[in-house]
Amino acid sequence: MTDATCIHEASHAAVALRLGLTVRRVQVGGWCRVPRYCAQLYPGLVAGVPIRSAITLLEEDCLDHSTVEVLIAMAAPMFVVTDDSKINTYAWLEAKLATRYAKNKTKLRPDLILSRAKSLAAVCEPRIYEIAERLEQERRIDDLQLPCV
Ligand SMILES: [Zn+2]
Repeated sequence: MTDATCIHEASHAAVALRLGLTVRRVQVGGWCRVPRYCAQLYPGLVAGVPIRSAITLLEEDCLDHSTVEVLIAMAAPMFVVTDDSKINTYAWLEAKLATRYAKNKTKLRPDLILSRAKSLAAVCEPRIYEIAERLEQERRIDDLQLPCV
């Protein structure tokens, strides 16, 4: 069984790629600096501060120019259930943050963010598991480019 954290991050990454976002890196170990879009979306995170975390790194300003795509990719793991209930609960929380951001800061409909995330998670499932298996081996991937088919 593939590690739940790898499946979670691969779900963000595969859906982001499918939506045409640039995925700079996916990692399930090690440090990174909090990117600007994460500070905008996650309460308590400050841009530029180092954190040790699993993360799917997109472009710093992606939330400004690709808001709907980022929110869909953020919500996607909620629809990819793993065998780890903590990861599943965290995915639910992220989807909640994405829909709250849509509701409070944009004119986007939160229900449409979730329905698009659900359908793309299903469409991208083979790619999600392919990325997750690679992530489990390599812990960090810097060259994800191919869209899921
Ligand atoms: Zn996540």
